[in-house]
Amino acid sequence: MTAQQKTDYDIIAIGAGFAGLGMIHHAREAGLSIRVFDKASDIGGTWTWNRYPGAASDSECYYYCLTFSKELLQKWSWSVRYPGWEENHRYMRFVADECNMWPNIQLNTEIVSADYQEDSGHWKLSTAGGEEFTCKYFVSAMGMISEPVIPNFKGMDTFKGPLFHSARWPEEGLDYAGKRVGIIGAGATTVQMLPVMAETAASVTVFQRTANFIMPAVQKRMTPEWEKEIKENYDEIIDKCRNHIFGMAFDSPVGRNLADTPPDEVQRIFEEHWPRGSFRFVFETFDDLLANPESNRIAGEFVISKMKEIVKDPEVAEMLTPKGYPFFAKRPPLDHNYYEAYNRDNVKLVDIKDREPLVEITETGIRTTENEYDFDIIILATGFQAYTGAQEALTIRGRNGLTLRDKWEDVSASILGVFTADFPNLFMITGPQAPFANLPTSIEQNIHYIIDCIKKMEQEGYDVCEPKQDAEDEWVAHVAEVHEQTLMAQGDKVHSWMMGANLENRKPRVLIYFGGANVYYDKMRDSVDAGFPEVEFESLAS
Ligand code: NAP
Repeated sequence: MTAQQKTDYDIIAIGAGFAGLGMIHHAREAGLSIRVFDKASDIGGTWTWNRYPGAASDSECYYYCLTFSKELLQKWSWSVRYPGWEENHRYMRFVADECNMWPNIQLNTEIVSADYQEDSGHWKLSTAGGEEFTCKYFVSAMGMISEPVIPNFKGMDTFKGPLFHSARWPEEGLDYAGKRVGIIGAGATTVQMLPVMAETAASVTVFQRTANFIMPAVQKRMTPEWEKEIKENYDEIIDKCRNHIFGMAFDSPVGRNLADTPPDEVQRIFEEHWPRGSFRFVFETFDDLLANPESNRIAGEFVISKMKEIVKDPEVAEMLTPKGYPFFAKRPPLDHNYYEAYNRDNVKLVDIKDREPLVEITETGIRTTENEYDFDIIILATGFQAYTGAQEALTIRGRNGLTLRDKWEDVSASILGVFTADFPNLFMITGPQAPFANLPTSIEQNIHYIIDCIKKMEQEGYDVCEPKQDAEDEWVAHVAEVHEQTLMAQGDKVHSWMMGANLENRKPRVLIYFGGANVYYDKMRDSVDAGFPEVEFESLAS
Protein backbone atom coordinates (compact mmCIF):
# COMPACT_ATOMS: atom_id res chain seq x y z
CA MET A 1 0.00 0.00 0.00
CA THR A 2 1.30 3.48 -0.73
CA ALA A 3 0.38 6.78 0.86
CA GLN A 4 -1.71 7.58 -2.20
CA GLN A 5 -3.94 4.57 -1.68
CA LYS A 6 -7.23 5.33 -0.08
CA THR A 7 -7.95 4.03 3.39
CA ASP A 8 -11.39 2.86 4.54
CA TYR A 9 -11.60 5.82 6.91
CA ASP A 10 -9.47 8.87 7.68
CA ILE A 11 -9.74 8.06 11.38
CA ILE A 12 -10.49 4.87 13.21
CA ALA A 13 -11.01 5.15 16.94
CA ILE A 14 -11.52 2.30 19.38
CA GLY A 15 -13.91 3.02 22.23
CA ALA A 16 -17.42 4.46 22.10
CA GLY A 17 -17.42 6.29 25.42
CA PHE A 18 -16.99 10.02 25.95
CA ALA A 19 -13.73 9.95 23.95
CA GLY A 20 -15.21 8.14 20.96
CA LEU A 21 -18.29 10.37 20.81
CA GLY A 22 -16.18 13.52 21.13
CA MET A 23 -13.89 12.29 18.35
CA ILE A 24 -16.86 11.70 16.04
CA HIS A 25 -18.10 15.24 16.54
CA HIS A 26 -14.76 16.97 16.02
CA ALA A 27 -13.60 14.71 13.17
CA ARG A 28 -16.80 15.27 11.22
CA GLU A 29 -16.57 19.00 11.86
CA ALA A 30 -13.07 18.90 10.33
CA GLY A 31 -14.45 17.13 7.27
CA LEU A 32 -12.80 13.78 8.10
CA SER A 33 -14.36 10.36 7.84
CA ILE A 34 -14.36 8.38 11.06
CA ARG A 35 -15.48 5.01 12.36
CA VAL A 36 -15.57 4.14 16.05
CA PHE A 37 -15.40 0.48 17.01
CA ASP A 38 -16.38 -0.96 20.35
CA LYS A 39 -16.50 -4.55 21.51
CA ALA A 40 -19.43 -3.72 23.81
CA SER A 41 -23.03 -4.12 22.70
CA ASP A 42 -23.76 -0.45 23.38
CA ILE A 43 -22.02 2.89 23.53
CA GLY A 44 -21.09 4.35 26.92
CA GLY A 45 -17.64 2.95 27.74
CA THR A 46 -17.31 2.96 31.53
CA TRP A 47 -21.08 3.30 31.87
CA THR A 48 -21.74 0.24 29.79
CA TRP A 49 -19.28 -1.99 31.61
CA ASN A 50 -19.69 -0.76 35.20
CA ARG A 51 -23.32 -1.60 35.91
CA TYR A 52 -22.80 -2.56 39.52
CA PRO A 53 -25.35 -1.33 42.08
CA GLY A 54 -24.53 2.19 43.18
CA ALA A 55 -22.21 2.93 40.21
CA ALA A 56 -22.23 6.70 39.73
CA SER A 57 -19.87 9.43 38.66
CA ASP A 58 -17.78 11.06 41.36
CA SER A 59 -17.62 14.26 39.32
CA GLU A 60 -20.67 16.47 39.67
CA CYS A 61 -23.01 16.04 36.69
CA TYR A 62 -22.81 19.51 35.19
CA TYR A 63 -19.14 19.21 34.34
CA TYR A 64 -19.12 15.45 33.77
CA CYS A 65 -20.33 15.83 30.20
CA LEU A 66 -19.29 16.81 26.69
CA THR A 67 -19.30 20.53 26.07
CA PHE A 68 -18.93 20.82 22.29
CA SER A 69 -22.58 21.78 21.79
CA LYS A 70 -24.12 24.60 23.81
CA GLU A 71 -27.49 23.50 22.52
CA LEU A 72 -27.09 20.01 24.01
CA LEU A 73 -25.92 21.44 27.32
CA GLN A 74 -29.16 23.41 27.49
CA LYS A 75 -31.36 20.58 26.29
CA TRP A 76 -30.26 17.82 28.68
CA SER A 77 -31.45 17.77 32.31
CA TRP A 78 -29.73 15.86 35.08
CA SER A 79 -31.79 14.47 37.96
CA VAL A 80 -29.11 14.39 40.67
CA ARG A 81 -25.70 15.80 41.54
CA TYR A 82 -23.90 12.46 40.86
CA PRO A 83 -25.81 10.54 38.19
CA GLY A 84 -25.88 6.77 38.36
CA TRP A 85 -24.68 4.56 35.53
CA GLU A 86 -28.13 4.34 33.92
CA GLU A 87 -28.46 8.11 33.73
CA ASN A 88 -24.91 8.60 32.42
CA HIS A 89 -25.63 5.94 29.86
CA ARG A 90 -28.91 7.60 28.84
CA TYR A 91 -27.06 10.90 28.50
CA MET A 92 -24.52 9.37 26.13
CA ARG A 93 -27.24 7.83 23.98
CA PHE A 94 -28.92 11.25 23.95
CA VAL A 95 -25.70 12.80 22.58
CA ALA A 96 -25.38 10.08 19.94
CA ASP A 97 -29.04 10.46 18.93
CA GLU A 98 -29.08 14.25 18.84
CA CYS A 99 -25.88 14.40 16.79
CA ASN A 100 -26.77 11.48 14.56
CA MET A 101 -23.57 9.66 15.49
CA TRP A 102 -24.83 6.11 15.10
CA PRO A 103 -23.73 5.74 11.44
CA ASN A 104 -20.15 6.32 12.63
CA ILE A 105 -20.29 3.64 15.33
CA GLN A 106 -19.79 -0.10 14.98
CA LEU A 107 -20.60 -2.08 18.14
CA ASN A 108 -20.01 -5.73 19.03
CA THR A 109 -16.71 -5.53 17.15
CA GLU A 110 -13.51 -6.32 18.98
CA ILE A 111 -10.33 -5.07 17.39
CA VAL A 112 -7.65 -7.63 18.18
CA SER A 113 -4.68 -6.07 16.42
CA ALA A 114 -3.56 -2.85 14.81
CA ASP A 115 -0.52 -2.78 12.57
CA TYR A 116 1.37 0.24 11.31
CA GLN A 117 2.09 0.00 7.58
CA GLU A 118 5.62 1.29 7.04
CA ASP A 119 5.20 1.88 3.30
CA SER A 120 2.03 3.95 3.45
CA GLY A 121 1.95 5.39 6.98
CA HIS A 122 -1.49 3.86 7.35
CA TRP A 123 -2.85 1.57 10.05
CA LYS A 124 -4.51 -1.79 9.42
CA LEU A 125 -6.88 -3.03 12.10
CA SER A 126 -8.17 -6.59 12.38
CA THR A 127 -11.32 -7.65 14.18
CA ALA A 128 -11.93 -10.83 16.15
CA GLY A 129 -14.26 -11.85 13.32
CA GLY A 130 -11.40 -11.67 10.79
CA GLU A 131 -12.36 -8.42 9.07
CA GLU A 132 -9.75 -5.78 8.25
CA PHE A 133 -10.10 -2.00 8.16
CA THR A 134 -7.57 0.66 7.23
CA CYS A 135 -7.17 4.26 8.30
CA LYS A 136 -4.61 7.05 8.19
CA TYR A 137 -5.05 8.10 11.81
CA PHE A 138 -5.53 5.56 14.57
CA VAL A 139 -6.99 6.89 17.82
CA SER A 140 -7.12 5.06 21.14
CA ALA A 141 -10.32 6.23 22.83
CA MET A 142 -10.42 3.24 25.13
CA GLY A 143 -10.41 5.01 28.48
CA MET A 144 -7.77 5.16 31.16
CA ILE A 145 -9.51 2.99 33.75
CA SER A 146 -11.14 0.32 31.65
CA GLU A 147 -9.10 -2.89 31.60
CA PRO A 148 -9.95 -4.92 34.72
CA VAL A 149 -7.30 -6.49 36.94
CA ILE A 150 -8.38 -10.05 37.68
CA PRO A 151 -6.05 -11.56 40.28
CA ASN A 152 -5.25 -15.21 39.95
CA PHE A 153 -6.58 -16.47 43.29
CA LYS A 154 -5.98 -20.14 43.97
CA GLY A 155 -9.15 -22.14 43.37
CA MET A 156 -10.92 -19.33 41.54
CA ASP A 157 -12.39 -21.65 38.91
CA THR A 158 -13.84 -24.01 41.52
CA PHE A 159 -16.44 -21.60 42.96
CA LYS A 160 -19.93 -22.87 42.17
CA GLY A 161 -21.77 -19.51 42.06
CA PRO A 162 -21.35 -16.39 39.94
CA LEU A 163 -17.86 -14.88 40.24
CA PHE A 164 -16.94 -11.87 38.13
CA HIS A 165 -15.15 -8.53 38.09
CA SER A 166 -17.24 -5.50 39.02
CA ALA A 167 -16.53 -3.96 35.61
CA ARG A 168 -17.94 -7.02 33.88
CA TRP A 169 -21.30 -6.87 35.64
CA PRO A 170 -23.77 -9.20 33.87
CA GLU A 171 -25.67 -7.20 31.25
CA GLU A 172 -28.89 -8.95 32.21
CA GLY A 173 -28.41 -7.87 35.84
CA LEU A 174 -27.80 -9.95 38.94
CA ASP A 175 -30.36 -10.97 41.52
CA TYR A 176 -28.51 -10.68 44.79
CA ALA A 177 -31.53 -10.15 47.06
CA GLY A 178 -31.37 -12.60 49.95
CA LYS A 179 -27.98 -13.89 48.81
CA ARG A 180 -24.64 -14.01 50.64
CA VAL A 181 -22.17 -11.81 48.77
CA GLY A 182 -18.39 -11.65 49.12
CA ILE A 183 -16.55 -8.65 47.68
CA ILE A 184 -12.78 -8.73 47.28
CA GLY A 185 -11.32 -5.22 47.23
CA ALA A 186 -12.23 -2.01 49.05
CA GLY A 187 -11.62 0.80 46.55
CA ALA A 188 -13.97 3.36 44.98
CA THR A 189 -16.09 0.63 43.38
CA THR A 190 -16.78 -1.20 46.65
CA VAL A 191 -17.40 2.09 48.43
CA GLN A 192 -20.27 2.71 46.00
CA MET A 193 -21.48 -0.88 45.76
CA LEU A 194 -21.59 -2.00 49.40
CA PRO A 195 -24.33 0.27 50.81
CA VAL A 196 -26.71 -0.49 47.95
CA MET A 197 -26.16 -4.26 47.99
CA ALA A 198 -26.38 -4.44 51.78
CA GLU A 199 -29.96 -3.18 51.64
CA THR A 200 -31.30 -6.40 50.12
CA ALA A 201 -28.54 -9.02 50.23
CA ALA A 202 -28.64 -11.54 53.07
CA SER A 203 -25.08 -10.52 53.90
CA VAL A 204 -22.15 -8.68 52.34
CA THR A 205 -18.57 -9.41 53.41
CA VAL A 206 -15.79 -7.10 52.21
CA PHE A 207 -12.24 -8.44 52.02
CA GLN A 208 -10.01 -5.41 52.43
CA ARG A 209 -6.27 -5.16 51.87
CA THR A 210 -5.76 -1.39 52.23
CA ALA A 211 -8.10 1.10 53.92
CA ASN A 212 -8.89 4.33 52.09
CA PHE A 213 -9.33 7.94 53.02
CA ILE A 214 -12.99 8.48 52.09
CA MET A 215 -14.81 11.79 51.77
CA PRO A 216 -18.56 12.41 51.67
CA ALA A 217 -20.19 12.71 48.24
CA VAL A 218 -23.38 14.37 49.54
CA GLN A 219 -25.82 13.37 46.85
CA LYS A 220 -28.56 15.93 46.04
CA ARG A 221 -31.51 16.10 43.71
CA MET A 222 -31.32 18.66 40.94
CA THR A 223 -33.79 21.48 41.51
CA PRO A 224 -35.21 23.83 38.84
CA GLU A 225 -33.34 26.75 40.46
CA TRP A 226 -30.01 24.91 40.49
CA GLU A 227 -30.47 23.76 36.90
CA LYS A 228 -31.27 27.32 35.82
CA GLU A 229 -28.16 28.62 37.55
CA ILE A 230 -26.00 25.96 35.88
CA LYS A 231 -27.46 26.56 32.42
CA GLU A 232 -27.03 30.31 32.68
CA ASN A 233 -23.38 29.91 33.61
CA TYR A 234 -22.09 27.22 31.31
CA ASP A 235 -19.36 29.34 29.75
CA GLU A 236 -17.96 30.06 33.18
CA ILE A 237 -18.23 26.40 34.24
CA ILE A 238 -16.34 25.23 31.14
CA ASP A 239 -13.73 27.90 31.70
CA LYS A 240 -13.28 26.87 35.33
CA CYS A 241 -12.74 23.23 34.35
CA ARG A 242 -10.22 24.19 31.67
CA ASN A 243 -8.24 26.20 34.21
CA HIS A 244 -8.39 23.93 37.23
CA ILE A 245 -5.60 21.57 38.26
CA PHE A 246 -8.08 18.69 38.52
CA GLY A 247 -10.23 19.74 35.53
CA MET A 248 -13.22 20.40 37.79
CA ALA A 249 -15.42 23.48 38.16
CA PHE A 250 -14.04 24.27 41.59
CA ASP A 251 -13.28 27.61 43.19
CA SER A 252 -9.60 27.14 43.77
CA PRO A 253 -6.89 28.03 44.49
CA VAL A 254 -8.37 29.67 47.57
CA GLY A 255 -5.33 31.75 48.45
CA ARG A 256 -4.62 30.32 51.90
CA ASN A 257 -2.45 27.52 53.27
CA LEU A 258 -3.23 25.33 56.22
CA ALA A 259 0.35 25.83 57.41
CA ASP A 260 -0.32 29.55 57.95
CA THR A 261 -3.72 29.13 59.61
CA PRO A 262 -4.31 28.81 63.39
CA PRO A 263 -5.54 25.30 64.42
CA ASP A 264 -8.98 26.49 65.57
CA GLU A 265 -9.56 28.22 62.27
CA VAL A 266 -8.38 25.11 60.39
CA GLN A 267 -11.00 23.03 62.21
CA ARG A 268 -13.69 25.64 61.55
CA ILE A 269 -12.90 25.70 57.83
CA PHE A 270 -12.79 21.91 57.61
CA GLU A 271 -16.12 21.59 59.46
CA GLU A 272 -17.69 24.21 57.21
CA HIS A 273 -16.59 22.47 53.99
CA TRP A 274 -17.07 18.81 54.97
CA PRO A 275 -20.89 18.76 54.58
CA ARG A 276 -20.63 20.25 51.09
CA GLY A 277 -19.28 16.97 49.73
CA SER A 278 -17.18 16.03 46.67
CA PHE A 279 -13.46 16.51 46.13
CA ARG A 280 -14.10 20.16 46.95
CA PHE A 281 -12.95 19.43 50.50
CA VAL A 282 -9.40 19.04 49.18
CA PHE A 283 -9.40 21.90 46.69
CA GLU A 284 -11.58 24.55 48.33
CA THR A 285 -10.26 24.53 51.90
CA PHE A 286 -6.50 25.11 51.68
CA ASP A 287 -4.01 25.19 48.84
CA ASP A 288 -1.26 23.15 50.50
CA LEU A 289 -3.03 19.88 51.40
CA LEU A 290 -1.36 17.96 48.59
CA ALA A 291 1.97 19.75 48.80
CA ASN A 292 2.87 20.16 52.49
CA PRO A 293 3.24 16.83 54.35
CA GLU A 294 2.18 18.29 57.71
CA SER A 295 -0.90 20.01 56.23
CA ASN A 296 -1.70 16.75 54.48
CA ARG A 297 -1.36 14.81 57.76
CA ILE A 298 -3.74 17.18 59.55
CA ALA A 299 -6.32 16.92 56.75
CA GLY A 300 -5.96 13.12 56.78
CA GLU A 301 -6.53 13.03 60.55
CA PHE A 302 -9.68 15.10 60.09
CA VAL A 303 -10.99 12.66 57.47
CA ILE A 304 -10.30 9.72 59.80
CA SER A 305 -12.01 11.47 62.73
CA LYS A 306 -15.15 11.86 60.62
CA MET A 307 -15.16 8.13 59.83
CA LYS A 308 -14.85 7.35 63.53
CA GLU A 309 -17.91 9.49 64.28
CA ILE A 310 -19.96 7.16 62.07
CA VAL A 311 -18.59 3.64 62.52
CA LYS A 312 -19.84 2.29 65.84
CA ASP A 313 -17.64 -0.78 66.32
CA PRO A 314 -14.14 0.46 67.31
CA GLU A 315 -12.51 -2.65 65.89
CA VAL A 316 -14.11 -2.07 62.49
CA ALA A 317 -13.21 1.63 62.69
CA GLU A 318 -9.61 0.62 63.33
CA MET A 319 -9.62 -1.62 60.26
CA LEU A 320 -11.11 1.23 58.20
CA THR A 321 -8.37 3.63 59.30
CA PRO A 322 -5.90 4.25 56.47
CA LYS A 323 -2.33 3.80 57.63
CA GLY A 324 1.14 4.37 56.32
CA TYR A 325 0.46 6.57 53.31
CA PRO A 326 -0.56 10.20 52.80
CA PHE A 327 -4.10 11.44 52.18
CA PHE A 328 -4.82 11.57 48.40
CA ALA A 329 -1.80 9.41 47.51
CA LYS A 330 -4.44 6.84 46.62
CA ARG A 331 -7.47 8.25 44.84
CA PRO A 332 -9.97 8.88 47.66
CA PRO A 333 -13.41 7.42 47.02
CA LEU A 334 -16.55 9.44 47.69
CA ASP A 335 -18.95 8.06 50.27
CA HIS A 336 -22.64 7.41 49.75
CA ASN A 337 -23.27 5.80 53.21
CA TYR A 338 -20.37 3.36 52.97
CA TYR A 339 -19.34 3.82 56.58
CA GLU A 340 -22.95 3.62 57.79
CA ALA A 341 -23.20 0.23 56.05
CA TYR A 342 -20.66 -1.18 58.51
CA ASN A 343 -23.13 -0.50 61.34
CA ARG A 344 -25.54 -3.04 59.81
CA ASP A 345 -25.72 -6.58 61.15
CA ASN A 346 -25.48 -8.08 57.67
CA VAL A 347 -22.17 -6.36 56.74
CA LYS A 348 -18.74 -7.64 57.71
CA LEU A 349 -15.23 -6.37 57.05
CA VAL A 350 -12.31 -8.79 56.84
CA ASP A 351 -8.75 -7.49 57.00
CA ILE A 352 -6.83 -9.69 54.56
CA LYS A 353 -3.60 -7.77 54.94
CA ASP A 354 -2.64 -8.04 58.60
CA ARG A 355 -5.22 -10.26 60.30
CA GLU A 356 -6.30 -13.07 58.01
CA PRO A 357 -4.76 -13.20 54.55
CA LEU A 358 -6.84 -14.73 51.79
CA VAL A 359 -5.70 -18.26 51.08
CA GLU A 360 -8.01 -19.49 48.35
CA ILE A 361 -11.40 -19.47 46.74
CA THR A 362 -13.25 -22.71 47.32
CA GLU A 363 -16.35 -24.32 45.83
CA THR A 364 -18.47 -22.61 48.45
CA GLY A 365 -16.71 -19.36 49.24
CA ILE A 366 -13.45 -17.86 50.46
CA ARG A 367 -10.93 -19.32 52.87
CA THR A 368 -8.57 -17.07 54.82
CA THR A 369 -5.83 -18.16 57.22
CA GLU A 370 -8.36 -17.93 60.06
CA ASN A 371 -11.84 -18.62 58.69
CA GLU A 372 -14.00 -20.06 55.94
CA TYR A 373 -16.74 -17.85 54.54
CA ASP A 374 -19.65 -19.24 52.51
CA PHE A 375 -21.06 -17.19 49.63
CA ASP A 376 -23.60 -17.42 46.84
CA ILE A 377 -21.85 -14.69 44.80
CA ILE A 378 -18.26 -13.41 44.73
CA ILE A 379 -17.41 -10.05 43.18
CA LEU A 380 -13.87 -9.05 42.33
CA ALA A 381 -13.75 -5.29 42.85
CA THR A 382 -10.02 -5.49 42.31
CA GLY A 383 -9.46 -2.48 40.12
CA PHE A 384 -7.93 -1.78 36.75
CA GLN A 385 -4.71 -1.65 34.77
CA ALA A 386 -4.95 2.09 34.54
CA TYR A 387 -3.71 4.18 31.60
CA THR A 388 -2.05 1.35 29.66
CA GLY A 389 -4.32 -1.69 30.13
CA ALA A 390 -6.74 -1.05 27.30
CA GLN A 391 -4.01 -0.39 24.73
CA GLU A 392 -2.10 -3.46 25.85
CA ALA A 393 -5.16 -5.72 25.72
CA LEU A 394 -4.93 -5.78 21.95
CA THR A 395 -1.77 -6.08 19.91
CA ILE A 396 -0.71 -2.68 18.62
CA ARG A 397 2.39 -2.94 16.45
CA GLY A 398 4.33 0.14 15.47
CA ARG A 399 7.61 0.49 13.58
CA ASN A 400 9.62 -2.71 13.08
CA GLY A 401 6.86 -4.79 14.64
CA LEU A 402 7.40 -3.28 18.10
CA THR A 403 4.31 -3.80 20.28
CA LEU A 404 3.09 -1.23 22.77
CA ARG A 405 3.11 -3.99 25.38
CA ASP A 406 6.84 -4.54 24.87
CA LYS A 407 7.62 -0.86 24.59
CA TRP A 408 5.94 -0.19 27.95
CA GLU A 409 7.44 -3.17 29.80
CA ASP A 410 9.45 -0.90 32.13
CA VAL A 411 8.40 2.66 31.36
CA SER A 412 4.98 3.66 30.04
CA ALA A 413 6.53 6.43 27.96
CA SER A 414 4.62 9.01 25.97
CA ILE A 415 4.63 12.59 24.83
CA LEU A 416 1.86 14.45 26.66
CA GLY A 417 0.02 11.15 27.02
CA VAL A 418 -0.96 11.47 23.35
CA PHE A 419 1.96 10.33 21.20
CA THR A 420 4.48 7.56 21.71
CA ALA A 421 7.70 7.13 19.73
CA ASP A 422 7.84 4.37 17.10
CA PHE A 423 4.06 4.51 16.69
CA PRO A 424 3.48 7.09 13.95
CA ASN A 425 -0.04 8.36 13.31
CA LEU A 426 -1.22 6.83 16.60
CA PHE A 427 -2.99 9.22 18.95
CA MET A 428 -4.05 8.33 22.49
CA ILE A 429 -6.80 10.15 24.34
CA THR A 430 -5.64 10.28 27.99
CA GLY A 431 -2.82 7.79 27.50
CA PRO A 432 -0.07 7.16 30.06
CA GLN A 433 1.61 10.23 31.54
CA ALA A 434 -1.40 12.45 30.97
CA PRO A 435 -2.87 13.98 34.14
CA PHE A 436 -5.54 12.41 36.34
CA ALA A 437 -8.45 14.83 36.22
CA ASN A 438 -12.14 15.21 35.51
CA LEU A 439 -12.24 12.96 32.48
CA PRO A 440 -14.58 14.74 30.07
CA THR A 441 -12.45 17.89 30.44
CA SER A 442 -9.21 16.04 29.74
CA ILE A 443 -10.79 14.05 26.91
CA GLU A 444 -12.05 17.18 25.15
CA GLN A 445 -8.71 18.96 25.54
CA ASN A 446 -6.94 15.91 24.11
CA ILE A 447 -9.36 15.76 21.19
CA HIS A 448 -8.78 19.42 20.31
CA TYR A 449 -5.05 18.77 20.31
CA ILE A 450 -5.31 15.63 18.19
CA ILE A 451 -7.70 17.17 15.68
CA ASP A 452 -5.46 20.23 15.36
CA CYS A 453 -2.54 17.96 14.55
CA ILE A 454 -4.53 15.99 11.98
CA LYS A 455 -5.85 19.18 10.40
CA LYS A 456 -2.31 20.45 10.01
CA MET A 457 -1.30 17.22 8.29
CA GLU A 458 -4.27 17.34 5.94
CA GLN A 459 -3.84 21.02 5.11
CA GLU A 460 -0.09 20.75 4.53
CA GLY A 461 -0.17 17.40 2.76
CA TYR A 462 1.72 15.22 5.24
CA ASP A 463 1.41 11.46 5.40
CA VAL A 464 3.21 10.66 8.63
CA CYS A 465 3.32 12.18 12.08
CA GLU A 466 6.41 10.72 13.74
CA PRO A 467 6.72 11.29 17.52
CA LYS A 468 10.31 12.34 18.27
CA GLN A 469 12.33 10.15 20.62
CA ASP A 470 14.05 13.12 22.26
CA ALA A 471 10.67 14.81 22.90
CA GLU A 472 9.49 11.60 24.53
CA ASP A 473 12.63 11.37 26.68
CA GLU A 474 12.05 14.95 27.73
CA TRP A 475 8.38 14.40 28.69
CA VAL A 476 9.19 11.16 30.56
CA ALA A 477 11.92 12.98 32.54
CA HIS A 478 9.66 15.95 33.25
CA VAL A 479 6.77 13.74 34.43
CA ALA A 480 9.19 11.81 36.69
CA GLU A 481 10.64 15.01 38.11
CA VAL A 482 7.19 16.38 38.94
CA HIS A 483 6.20 13.00 40.43
CA GLU A 484 9.23 13.12 42.74
CA GLN A 485 7.91 16.32 44.29
CA THR A 486 4.54 14.80 45.18
CA LEU A 487 3.21 12.78 48.09
CA MET A 488 3.08 9.79 45.77
CA ALA A 489 6.84 9.51 45.82
CA GLN A 490 7.13 8.87 49.55
CA GLY A 491 9.24 5.74 49.46
CA ASP A 492 7.47 2.49 48.75
CA LYS A 493 4.56 3.27 51.09
CA VAL A 494 2.04 4.12 48.43
CA HIS A 495 0.40 1.06 46.93
CA SER A 496 -1.76 2.71 44.30
CA TRP A 497 -3.07 1.94 40.83
CA MET A 498 -1.94 5.49 40.08
CA MET A 499 1.57 4.03 39.76
CA GLY A 500 0.59 0.64 38.45
CA ALA A 501 1.51 -0.80 41.87
CA ASN A 502 -1.62 -2.99 41.71
CA LEU A 503 -0.19 -5.15 38.93
CA GLU A 504 1.41 -8.39 39.99
CA ASN A 505 3.61 -8.85 36.93
CA ARG A 506 4.76 -5.27 36.41
CA LYS A 507 7.09 -2.88 38.20
CA PRO A 508 5.42 0.28 39.56
CA ARG A 509 6.02 3.26 37.32
CA VAL A 510 5.15 6.92 36.85
CA LEU A 511 1.81 6.76 35.05
CA ILE A 512 0.42 10.22 35.73
CA TYR A 513 1.50 13.78 35.08
CA PHE A 514 0.97 15.57 38.40
CA GLY A 515 1.89 19.06 37.22
CA GLY A 516 -1.80 20.06 37.05
CA ALA A 517 -4.34 19.44 34.34
CA ASN A 518 -4.54 23.17 33.56
CA VAL A 519 -0.76 23.35 33.09
CA TYR A 520 -0.96 20.30 30.85
CA TYR A 521 -3.74 21.84 28.73
CA ASP A 522 -1.57 24.98 28.38
CA LYS A 523 1.33 22.82 27.20
CA MET A 524 -0.85 21.28 24.50
CA ARG A 525 -1.96 24.73 23.32
CA ASP A 526 1.68 25.87 23.27
CA SER A 527 2.53 22.85 21.17
CA VAL A 528 -0.24 23.66 18.66
CA ASP A 529 0.93 27.29 18.46
CA ALA A 530 4.50 26.16 17.87
CA GLY A 531 3.47 23.74 15.09
CA PHE A 532 3.83 20.51 17.13
CA PRO A 533 7.58 20.53 17.77
CA GLU A 534 7.31 17.11 19.50
CA VAL A 535 6.66 15.35 16.21
CA GLU A 536 8.26 15.17 12.77
CA PHE A 537 5.88 15.55 9.84
CA GLU A 538 6.78 13.66 6.68
CA SER A 539 5.46 13.23 3.18
CA LEU A 540 6.03 9.84 1.61
CA ALA A 541 7.15 9.73 -2.01
CA SER A 542 4.48 8.42 -4.36
P1 NAP B 1 -9.13 0.20 43.18
O1 NAP B 1 -9.32 1.53 43.77
O2 NAP B 1 -7.84 -0.13 42.53
O3 NAP B 1 -9.46 -0.84 44.30
C1 NAP B 1 -9.20 -2.20 44.10
C2 NAP B 1 -9.29 -2.89 45.42
O4 NAP B 1 -8.98 -4.26 45.24
C3 NAP B 1 -8.27 -2.36 46.43
O5 NAP B 1 -8.84 -2.39 47.70
C4 NAP B 1 -7.12 -3.35 46.29
O6 NAP B 1 -6.30 -3.41 47.42
C5 NAP B 1 -7.90 -4.62 46.08
N1 NAP B 1 -7.13 -5.65 45.44
C6 NAP B 1 -6.56 -5.63 44.22
N2 NAP B 1 -5.92 -6.78 43.97
C7 NAP B 1 -6.10 -7.55 45.06
C8 NAP B 1 -5.67 -8.84 45.41
N3 NAP B 1 -4.91 -9.59 44.59
N4 NAP B 1 -6.01 -9.32 46.63
C9 NAP B 1 -6.76 -8.58 47.46
N5 NAP B 1 -7.20 -7.34 47.20
C10 NAP B 1 -6.88 -6.84 46.00
O7 NAP B 1 -10.28 -0.13 42.10
P2 NAP B 1 -11.73 0.48 41.98
O8 NAP B 1 -12.39 0.50 43.28
O9 NAP B 1 -12.41 -0.23 40.88
O10 NAP B 1 -11.45 1.96 41.55
C11 NAP B 1 -10.42 2.25 40.60
C12 NAP B 1 -10.57 3.65 40.11
O11 NAP B 1 -11.64 3.67 39.19
C13 NAP B 1 -10.93 4.66 41.17
O12 NAP B 1 -9.84 5.12 41.91
C14 NAP B 1 -11.56 5.73 40.33
O13 NAP B 1 -10.61 6.55 39.76
C15 NAP B 1 -12.28 4.91 39.29
N6 NAP B 1 -13.65 4.72 39.76
C16 NAP B 1 -14.42 5.82 39.67
C17 NAP B 1 -15.68 5.77 40.12
C18 NAP B 1 -16.46 7.02 40.02
O14 NAP B 1 -15.97 8.05 39.66
N7 NAP B 1 -17.68 6.99 40.37
C19 NAP B 1 -16.21 4.60 40.67
C20 NAP B 1 -15.40 3.48 40.73
C21 NAP B 1 -14.12 3.56 40.27
P3 NAP B 1 -5.01 -2.41 47.53
O15 NAP B 1 -5.58 -1.05 47.74
O16 NAP B 1 -4.26 -2.94 48.66
O17 NAP B 1 -4.28 -2.53 46.22
